[in-house]
Amino acid sequence: MAHKKFPMEHDKKIALVAHDNKKRDLLEWAKFNRDLLAHHKVFATGTTGKLLERELGFKITKLNSGPLGGDQQIGAKIVEGKIDFLIFFWDPLEPQPHDPDVKALLRMAVVWNIPIANNRASADFMISSPLMDGEYDRLVPDYDNYVARKIDLGEKTN
Ligand code: PGA
Repeated sequence: MAHKKFPMEHDKKIALVAHDNKKRDLLEWAKFNRDLLAHHKVFATGTTGKLLERELGFKITKLNSGPLGGDQQIGAKIVEGKIDFLIFFWDPLEPQPHDPDVKALLRMAVVWNIPIANNRASADFMISSPLMDGEYDRLVPDYDNYVARKIDLGEKTN
């Protein structure tokens, strides 16, 4: 399959999300990496963003709370090319009321080849990657053929 290049700039647009039982983990991680995060543009779901802003002391673009549509807002931004990275500490031990939204967000990240970290170790490796400090061409499958596909509506030709 052919690919299209989506350039990522030096300063990246990073989305941070954590379920309630994982918020402490994300806060600790973000505090430890504060200076690295500070020169990127950070987005977050509502409650995660409020806590992070208080902890880190710089501006975070806060969307709605996850269960109220925040995950979907991040997914939409991925589709629009407005998010480069997703750090999403989801809780594997507790059912979430917005489970379909969680799945949809993860799916959009894969569709658009967005790097995702779902736990602290992955986030550590990601933030310390030399690729974070430069420009990078994200390769996304060329979906033009998919968009142009013919739909068989079963119509008679005569
Ligand atoms: P919250 O949402 O940051 O508003 O708690 C997180 C989520 O559950 O997706």
